[in-house]
Amino acid sequence: MWDKIRSLFTARSDPHGYTVYVACDRCGEKLKTRINKAHDLSVEYGARQGKDTYFCRKVLSGDGPCFQRIEVELTFDERKRVIDKEISGGRFISREEYMQG
Ligand SMILES: [Zn+2]
Repeated sequence: MWDKIRSLFTARSDPHGYTVYVACDRCGEKLKTRINKAHDLSVEYGARQGKDTYFCRKVLSGDGPCFQRIEVELTFDERKRVIDKEISGGRFISREEYMQG
């Protein structure tokens, strides 16, 4: 019973994933991608004040006709929390903004 509750909670908070929401600079199309913290990150040993950081780079392209490539670069701290993010070809938007369509 307890395990069941815990797994439900875990699924909702998604501790192993980080979802990025972006909008295309050119056509405004909204896109999202999920980063799997267990598989998609590469470690950079001692990169931040002697502590390890993790890095992830993703390229997104929309289904629309504009073929814009949106490049996202994320840096995570040693506990895999986002500490820095950069984007080119688009801009970061919130989950709420994404859901508005
Ligand atoms: Zn576009």
